[in-house]
Amino acid sequence: MLSDRVKNCGESMTLSLAEKAKKLKENGESVVDFGTGEPDFKTPDYICDGGKAAIDAGYTKYDAVAGVSALRQVISKKLREDHGLDYAPDNIIINSGAKSAIFIALQTILNPGDEVIVVRPYWVSYTEMIRLAGGVPVIAETQRENQFKLTPEELIYAITPKTKAIILNSPTNPTGVIYSLEELLKLSEVLVRNKIMVISDEVYEEFVYGDRNHISIASLNSEIKALTILVNGFSKTFAMTGWRLGYAAATSEIVAGMKRVQGHTLSHPSTISQYAGRVALAEKGAVTDDIIREFDERRQAMLQRLDQIPGIDYIYPESTFYIFVDIEEILSNRKKVLNPDTSLGFCEKLLDSARVVAVPGESFGMPNYIRLSFATTIEAIEEGFDRIEKFVNQY
Ligand code: PLP
Repeated sequence: MLSDRVKNCGESMTLSLAEKAKKLKENGESVVDFGTGEPDFKTPDYICDGGKAAIDAGYTKYDAVAGVSALRQVISKKLREDHGLDYAPDNIIINSGAKSAIFIALQTILNPGDEVIVVRPYWVSYTEMIRLAGGVPVIAETQRENQFKLTPEELIYAITPKTKAIILNSPTNPTGVIYSLEELLKLSEVLVRNKIMVISDEVYEEFVYGDRNHISIASLNSEIKALTILVNGFSKTFAMTGWRLGYAAATSEIVAGMKRVQGHTLSHPSTISQYAGRVALAEKGAVTDDIIREFDERRQAMLQRLDQIPGIDYIYPESTFYIFVDIEEILSNRKKVLNPDTSLGFCEKLLDSARVVAVPGESFGMPNYIRLSFATTIEAIEEGFDRIEKFVNQY
């Protein structure tokens, strides 16, 4: 019954793990969840009020395919103020989450067999969305010594005559690294020279710690901007995962193409969410700053605990709310007790024996790693690490 397209689209390897954790929680078990991919706080009240006001004002009907004009205007202003980027509201399209922005972008630009470069470790949906759009994901390999950030040489190695685009994700899920201005400049030179488009996924732009800051690749110069589809969303910054709201900014040609795809499929995201999103951006301020401060404390708490476990190494997280932990040494000593003897087996046993959820590195193309999310309370971090320490000593 299924199309080849769907047959070729991989199912999430971690689904059964997440389902098991959910069942345990429903049965009243105490489960510490380091698997979460969303902020643990509630959507701020002023945003919810914006959504309620939209319902009361009757903004509950069809609207423009590109999204409501008032929201595109505040996004245009945000991109100018935050990144010096000049995107008119007509160069912006609102989608149902950053995920749908990426999906529609790929549908818009790919012909069958076109290659799209994806940087390992990668967010698993990238490769599957490329396949669903008829493209071919080409994995660019990176090095641990460079915190798995793509270098110009690694990029050049992945380029073929069929390369149409690259998906770049900075700040990066799952590693928590962030590309510097110099690194982006070097990559953009290669991309411009080879006329390769960039889908720049910037959903974690606010979750940046210490003295690092997020630079949008489109802001480097007009040549790379012309090749970029900038993608961002409301899920992470404003804890609006369920509102399904994101956007893309690009050239008029690309936005017109994306409107065609969206017009015949999604129409547009919920108008109620869009009005709430307008309020989120227009009145953004202290709420986000407080949240980032709190996340930084959690990051420090988790790092402190990680440093105390022998045999564990990690990529130092400068952004996002994830830590990508190298468990190769732990795995090599426990091959006999794990099935499979990779991070998937480790995470299954960790859940079964210690009731702690972690995401196996298989989800990002790296079976010797696990991803831990610190989007949870300090108490949960302490409790989870008490359990992890005991677990690691036991097996
Ligand atoms: N991009 C990355 C790298 C993500 O990790 C996620 C969510 O986990 C998304 C995009 C999707 O975000 P949204 O909820 O806006 O679709």
